[in-house]
Amino acid sequence: MPVVLNAENITVKFGGLVAVNNVSLSLEKGKILGLIGPNGAGKSTLFNAITGFAPVISGKVFFLDKDVTKLPPYIRTRYGMGRTFQTERPYEDLTVLENVLVAAFLKNNKRKDAEKIALSALEKVGLLDRAHQLSSDLNLARLRRLELAKALALEPEILFLDEIMAGLNPPALKEMIALLRELTATGISIVMVEHIMEAIIQLADHVIVLASGNKIAEGLAIDVINDENVIEAYLGT
Ligand code: ADP
Ligand code: MG
Repeated sequence: MPVVLNAENITVKFGGLVAVNNVSLSLEKGKILGLIGPNGAGKSTLFNAITGFAPVISGKVFFLDKDVTKLPPYIRTRYGMGRTFQTERPYEDLTVLENVLVAAFLKNNKRKDAEKIALSALEKVGLLDRAHQLSSDLNLARLRRLELAKALALEPEILFLDEIMAGLNPPALKEMIALLRELTATGISIVMVEHIMEAIIQLADHVIVLASGNKIAEGLAIDVINDENVIEAYLGT
């Protein structure tokens, strides 16, 4: 499978703090990369660096062989790098469809096309029957699927998902896992930050572990979660 994303030696600093220290990763089409590590490890910052929201001190990001390191986030989005935000909330006064339309308009400025894309995104995540409800009426599981639909409305090649499973009950978790599998079957690649190990074990083809900004382990999920350094890093926080 072709490599869709290659991040090489990424370093991000906030003042004196090295939030991400010389971390590399790559991802093949249709695969899922899991990013794990204790709180403050630098997972979200690495996401932000790759998607253009955090300044990279050194290192390069290649997306579909294009060097995107210096491009602003909205251009990366247009190229096909879609993402959800850990803290993002929908516009509560807007309907579910309107929320997805806002995202669809970022890539497509014809109303008809944007609507088509938004409806298709809602269908993919199983929210079509909720299209005209206010997003404030959705439960947590559906809110997460709305976040996913917003990312899908950008017609991404890669999806960056930041803790999209957090707080879901077991049935909702199972549904989300199945949904992400379906998306990869259509050729979408995924980088996911996730604390829920069950999701990582079931989904990730490859796992990278960060601690204090450093990559401390990588490999198959089952191997890295049993790695002594990884266990120690989690216990240390
Ligand atoms: P994680 O997502 O793994 O929990 P983060 O990437 O959010 O970790 O944070 C990594 C480190 O960078 C933490 O020490 C955090 O306090 C710091 N940090 C994150 N964002 C900022 C910022 N915008 N300004 C200053 N420090 C930040
Ligand atoms: Mg985070």
